[in-house]
Amino acid sequence: MKKEITIKIKQKYINKYKEGYPLLTKESIVNLQDLEREGIIVKLVDDKNRFVAKGYYGRQNKGYGWVLSRKENEIIDIKFFEKKIIEALNKRTPFYNNPSTTAFRIFNGEGDGIGGLTIDNFDGYYLINWYSKGIYKFRDEIINSLKKLVGFKAIYQKKRFNIDGKYVEEDGFILGTRGQFPVIVKENDVNFAVYFDEGAMVGVFLDQREVRRTIRDKYAKGRTVLNTFSYTGAFSVFSALGGAAKTTSVDLANRSLSKTIEQFSINNIDYEAHDIIVEDVFSYFKYAQKKGLKYDMVILDPPSFAKSKKYIFSVEKDYKNLLKEAIAITEENGIIVASTNSSSFNMKKFKGYIKDAFSEMNSKYNIIEEYTLPSDFKTINEYEKGNYLKVIFIKI
Ligand code: SAH
Repeated sequence: MKKEITIKIKQKYINKYKEGYPLLTKESIVNLQDLEREGIIVKLVDDKNRFVAKGYYGRQNKGYGWVLSRKENEIIDIKFFEKKIIEALNKRTPFYNNPSTTAFRIFNGEGDGIGGLTIDNFDGYYLINWYSKGIYKFRDEIINSLKKLVGFKAIYQKKRFNIDGKYVEEDGFILGTRGQFPVIVKENDVNFAVYFDEGAMVGVFLDQREVRRTIRDKYAKGRTVLNTFSYTGAFSVFSALGGAAKTTSVDLANRSLSKTIEQFSINNIDYEAHDIIVEDVFSYFKYAQKKGLKYDMVILDPPSFAKSKKYIFSVEKDYKNLLKEAIAITEENGIIVASTNSSSFNMKKFKGYIKDAFSEMNSKYNIIEEYTLPSDFKTINEYEKGNYLKVIFIKI
């Protein structure tokens, strides 16, 4: 049995927790000093010591832990974790039954009832992400439950709980038969090369699945496509498969060149018919403007924060300018796909940046499609920040 302590919640936050808010925040706790070590079970009570919820203490940059249950006599043991994973798996049945897509998320943190934990399935290679030392204390319960409930080739993990939520470098193999990387997975019949041994990113961001499909099926045909912050070139590959006239991928990381060649190649596309450029996106925009280059579709998918030699990009401060750069080199009647994974602002504010960018450029636009997280990235209404992805298709 894990140690359980009582944590008093300030009265003004009580209703929030009663209504289902899942994140334990520093400012809501009266007796912070009692949080002695991560992984302890915390019983949240109001000022009259009445039970509100129970959860665990675990430090992430988001907060101090997560609510696990609103039932006073529910015990947080292996049965509890098993039940949560079963519920999550039941919601993914359509994914398990779809041979065209073999990579998807089976457990999405607080959306599935346990904040700080995600589990992805890459064609039988399961990858657990632990986002705090606190949740990692429950590893035996969680790994044993998963082992019992899914047919796996192997189970891997990533610990993402050193400073700033960054990934701790190590081989994350736990059990099963070690994979030969890259493992090739499928998404709507397109191949992806996935690596578990290269840091926090594995080669594909599963949350953009519907956006990639939409680009391929509805917008790519005959268009020239500029894919910025392209990483492994996922959007370029889907554009090419959708009949794009040509794609140009721009990313400043050296690895992006070989990774993008690989993604094209495993999908039998001649990468030499496309441009893959290792450069700072902002320098590329300048170059394109000077040369008078224009594109029929420009894809913007920046990280929330990035530092290059020349610029510091922070999404809240700079998205509007990024859009203005894109507007300047998009053809009339062209499309801009504006994406962000930042949880620090919502869709409304994002649309505000778009509005401001177009008005400063004296340009008109229509929003033609909007996407948030796909169904395997389950979210709950009580935690808006959990639904971080925002993608808007804009027609100029
Ligand atoms: N759009 C990608 C994911 C982007 S991840 C996909 O769908 O898979 C963010 C990428 O931005 C990283 O590969 C990083 O190298 C790149 N990056 C960060 N700052 C950049 C900059 N100033 N110019 C170009 N690329 C940048």
